[in-house]
Amino acid sequence: MTVLAPPVPLTLSARIDQMFPMLTPAQIARIAVHGRVRPVRRGEVLVEVGDHVVPFFVVTGGEVEIVRPSGTSEEPVAVHGPGHFTGEINMLSGRRALVRARVSESGEVIELDREHLLALVQTDAEISEILMRAFILRRVELIAHGLGDVVLIGSSHCSGTLRVKEFLTRNGHPYSYIDLDSEADVQGMLDRFHVAIADIPILICRGDVVLRNPTNQQIADCLGFNDAIDQTQIRDVVIVGAGPSGLAAAVYAASEGLDVLVLETNAPGGQAGSSSKIENYLGFPTGISGQALAARAYTQAQKFGAQVIIAQGAKQLACDRRPYAVEIDNGLRVPARTVIIATGAEYRKPSLGNLSQFEGAGVYYGATFMEAQLCRGEEVIVVGGGNSAGQAAVFLAQAAKRVHMLIRSSGLAESMSRYLIRRIEQNPAIVLRTHTELTALEGGSHLEHVSLRNHQTGTTETHDIRHVFVMAGAAPSTHWLDGCVVLDANGFIKTGPDLTRDELTAAHWPLARAPHLLETSLPDVFAVGDVRGGNIKRVASAVGEGSIAIAFVHRVLHE
Ligand SMILES: Cc1cc2nc3c(=O)[nH]c(=O)nc-3n(C[C@H](O)[C@H](O)[C@H](O)COP(=O)(O)OP(=O)(O)OC[C@H]3O[C@@H](n4cnc5c(N)ncnc54)[C@H](O)[C@@H]3O)c2cc1C
Repeated sequence: MTVLAPPVPLTLSARIDQMFPMLTPAQIARIAVHGRVRPVRRGEVLVEVGDHVVPFFVVTGGEVEIVRPSGTSEEPVAVHGPGHFTGEINMLSGRRALVRARVSESGEVIELDREHLLALVQTDAEISEILMRAFILRRVELIAHGLGDVVLIGSSHCSGTLRVKEFLTRNGHPYSYIDLDSEADVQGMLDRFHVAIADIPILICRGDVVLRNPTNQQIADCLGFNDAIDQTQIRDVVIVGAGPSGLAAAVYAASEGLDVLVLETNAPGGQAGSSSKIENYLGFPTGISGQALAARAYTQAQKFGAQVIIAQGAKQLACDRRPYAVEIDNGLRVPARTVIIATGAEYRKPSLGNLSQFEGAGVYYGATFMEAQLCRGEEVIVVGGGNSAGQAAVFLAQAAKRVHMLIRSSGLAESMSRYLIRRIEQNPAIVLRTHTELTALEGGSHLEHVSLRNHQTGTTETHDIRHVFVMAGAAPSTHWLDGCVVLDANGFIKTGPDLTRDELTAAHWPLARAPHLLETSLPDVFAVGDVRGGNIKRVASAVGEGSIAIAFVHRVLHE
């Protein structure tokens, strides 16, 4: 049986049986069909920390220990006996191994490479459920205990720290955090790592590489997030954006046998990933955090074989040739038979000269557990009157002393769901400030004061408020399309029946048929979710459109 090796670093929870399930002889026989049975000798290392695209092992005789090297010693994690198997979620993503698997007692294993493991989980529903659950729970434990290959040294006074934390968290990568704000001897700490204050945050990657205030792309490169993905091969469908619409398209396309590549400029989840709780998505009566929903969808897409490139955005669509190609940040061009644009929208930034100085250090565009921790017991401002602002206000009111909601209009009735309005009205910690706008931000390394102007009274007030959540006026992410597809007056992409004959003529639509539903003015290029004109800005509609688009992808691939 699998036992957690002492000293037990993992939480001994009721989930232990699901984390380390015992396979039945019948299940082992079905797995064996996909792999090869081979003897193993005591001391043999089956998986080394840092290996990518690691094989999967079922132990049929002897024992395999899982350890985490730490300096010159090793930290025990688990011991697998006969009937148990190795691996966690990186088996699906092809990312680097975070632990070492070594044979501690000679015996026998069944070995499957990643392709065969994917084939197994796609075809055998019973085994798939057991493996997927164990892989996910094991990763959750690694995250909960910071058992990864990353140490982050940061401060809440530096905007990069929140960005890096969000990037690692939203990519489901475990890390341990050293908070300089709570270090008595900050300078001593910095000297120990030979870094200057301007270098913060520091990320120690895979034990030895020291990255100073790294970009998300540098982190992804160092951790090898995209190493297992061929970025040059032509794909049936390239999906740009891994929010709910892009991930839904990826799940349906991959599960229906298409060769899928997803490009994501940041991390999976999109806007939904910055929501503390989504309560109106079908099937989750008690709500689900955007992060949890995104993580499940991401894993589901990978299980079916979709590949997701992280921290590499689309810079341009080469639309003057076939196959189309999407140029990405690293300069490569990814060729595609069809393209799905799922780049969503971003909040419009208030036009305040020094806004960027405080982004991540007092100004935020998402309201998750991470941001809520930063403003515990303090007063905060939420700018906006839509559902996302309402949700943020209610969520933040649990941690903050008071939440001021700033809206330009006279009330919430036109822009927000009734259930949220009621919660806001009934919450004494939320103050609604109508006809009010944010006019100035002040501070040093962190936001310290804000100025608010009331348009009705003409008065301006300054408050000592250190946290502002901007959640108003979403703008579509279409700048990279550079004239390839017809947009509406607000910059959203026009599709299907919304495209007029004149627009199609001007766009040189070459086919006898009209564009399909969700197809843009460019044949075989589709737009789904928030980036599409006329779309209802909800998770459910984004997911619905992403999945519907795949029916049309099949159709055009057969035209
Ligand atoms: C805080 C908040 C709370 C919300 N709460 C709810 C709710 O409770 N219920 C509900 O139904 N809806 C809610 N919404 C709205 C919902 O999240 C959106 O409608 C939904 O996320 C839209 O999905 P999408 O995939 O179309 O776009 P997005 O979620 O915007 O995702 C687009 C993705 O594309 C990526 N991208 C952008 N440009 C590029 C590029 N050039 N190359 C590669 N990738 C790119 C982005 O990084 C992003 O990951 C909320 C939104 C927010 C912000």
